Amino acid sequence: MNNIITIDGPAGSGKSTIAKILSKELDLKYIDTGAMYRAITLLALENNLDFQDEASILKLAKKTKIELDYRAADEKGFTKIKLNGIDVTDKIRSKEIGAAVSIVSKLSGVRRYLVKMQRSIAKGNKAILEGRDTGSIVCPNAILKVFLTANLKERVKRRKLQLEEKKQEIKVKLIRDEIINRDRIDSNRNDSPLIIPENGVVIDTTDMSINEVVEMIRKIYRERLNES
Ligand code: C5P
Repeated sequence: MNNIITIDGPAGSGKSTIAKILSKELDLKYIDTGAMYRAITLLALENNLDFQDEASILKLAKKTKIELDYRAADEKGFTKIKLNGIDVTDKIRSKEIGAAVSIVSKLSGVRRYLVKMQRSIAKGNKAILEGRDTGSIVCPNAILKVFLTANLKERVKRRKLQLEEKKQEIKVKLIRDEIINRDRIDSNRNDSPLIIPENGVVIDTTDMSINEVVEMIRKIYRERLNES
């Protein structure tokens, strides 16, 4: 899989920003897997389904047309996404979805369904995938598997700035609680927990600028391409 880069890591580690920039610079299809889990969570929420009710959630998901925009928005914009033709780009970023998405993401049937979809979107393309299991499960043979991290304080700060840019004012404590809670569930679930993928390159971005991170990944990617 010479054409695939994966970026995984905890909430607020900078995955989306970095993946979007790299997707543009290297002309890679951008696959925001978190947006897909958020979309399924929105479906469950809007249809009053229990977040543990895997059979009903999956049935509804399979009947729903999910359309993602694979051309990365600018680095600050969210991935455009539609459910049955209706734009839900902003809706999937709400507090309610943030609080519920990790619960729905634990469901193995939902994961199997989305992983299959993600692999078929990536197949035969030059692509960059970002999420929690894109290097460990979705594309384990990717030429470059990155695991981004940053300390909690920095991740909270980044998420706050990102929300402010979207004119959303949320208290720091709430942002912190949501990040801690999501990371705990994502890292401890049985199916596809957030882990450093085998042969993954770990980058701690706490004290790095966006450009430095992009530059580092680009350099390793080019070296790998030359070696292959
Ligand atoms: O990347 P983002 O923060 O939008 O992801 C939202 C949630 O979706 C994560 O906290 C996680 O629960 C779930 N997710 C996942 N596997 C992925 C991507 C996201 O379980 N590959």
